[in-house]
Amino acid sequence: MAIFEPRDQIRAMVGYHSAQVDVPIRLNTNESPFPPPAGWVKMLTDVAAGIDWNRYPDRAAVELRAVIAARHSVSPENVFVANGSNEVLQTILLTYGGHGRKVASFEPTYQMYAQIARVTGADVVVGERRADFTLDAHEIERLMQREAPSVTFLCNPNNPTGLVEPRENLEVLLEHATGVVVVDEAYAEFSDWSAMDLVSEDRALAVTRTFSKTLSMAALRVGYVVAPKWMIAQLEIAALPYHLDSFKQAATTAALGFTAEMEERVALIKSERSRIESTLAALDIEVWPSGSNFVLFRPRSKDAQAVWADLLAAGILVRDCSSWARLEGCLRVTVGTPDENSAFLAAMSSAVA
Ligand code: PMP
Repeated sequence: MAIFEPRDQIRAMVGYHSAQVDVPIRLNTNESPFPPPAGWVKMLTDVAAGIDWNRYPDRAAVELRAVIAARHSVSPENVFVANGSNEVLQTILLTYGGHGRKVASFEPTYQMYAQIARVTGADVVVGERRADFTLDAHEIERLMQREAPSVTFLCNPNNPTGLVEPRENLEVLLEHATGVVVVDEAYAEFSDWSAMDLVSEDRALAVTRTFSKTLSMAALRVGYVVAPKWMIAQLEIAALPYHLDSFKQAATTAALGFTAEMEERVALIKSERSRIESTLAALDIEVWPSGSNFVLFRPRSKDAQAVWADLLAAGILVRDCSSWARLEGCLRVTVGTPDENSAFLAAMSSAVA
């Protein structure tokens, strides 16, 4: 059979992948190391039994949006929910990006911004971070003035560097932005500030969140955005009908009754993160201060790929960023359980010895 070519943008691209290797300790995709609360898992059979399976879901996800809105003290019309925050990003780009428009990010950052922007036909424009991965406010202003992007992404805390963006940088961005500003807060719970309180009807600011990290539900695929009502109404035009299935809506609504339990774990992750940072630094490894549930580091005494392979041989999978642009020699480790972190640190100590 003849092979049919995809359109040009897709042909020029490679997919975005993170290895799913079957190893005992997986610290490569920034998930929570803890399962969700047992009480919620037990409820799921009742949730499934209560679904009208022959009917399409509530297209407006009324109940789910109401509980998320209450969590952030906004109105349900300020909330759009999708299948993971990646789908939220995609919906934003389908709505405001596309052919003939520019989408901006400050590199290095989360690769899906550029990936989805290209897949949806937009041109990608890039602002550069300093060598230490901090972002100069002048670079923000320059990029906005030079490119006038329709959508600009700021990831806070930033993946894969872990750095928390100073609030002033967002203020500069909001002052100079020509289009929609998206603050991706996938890791906000591990950080010390959020842009949520800046969302208002007179500003084209959208703040995205996910259930995949703190809330321990990466398998469920739920993310959302809080934004002005007019923006949510526009996103809904681009979204597919019934994109959120009934089970997901009900299971996610139920999950929000357990947030306190899930958030208790944030303190443990943060203290484990400090232990990882200080132990790696003591091994003479370059470490970036993280406001997230992962740590970016650069071994000095040995090649990063060799360290990655040594860790894998010890049954530990971390993210190899060493071949990514601007991240030469870097690896990224997700904070795991205390035992997993101890195993990682012991393996690191032998790998760089
Ligand atoms: N944004 C950032 C910065 C991320 O790191 C991730 C997950 N890797 C996502 C969004 C997507 O998360 P999800 O689609 O699971 O909600």
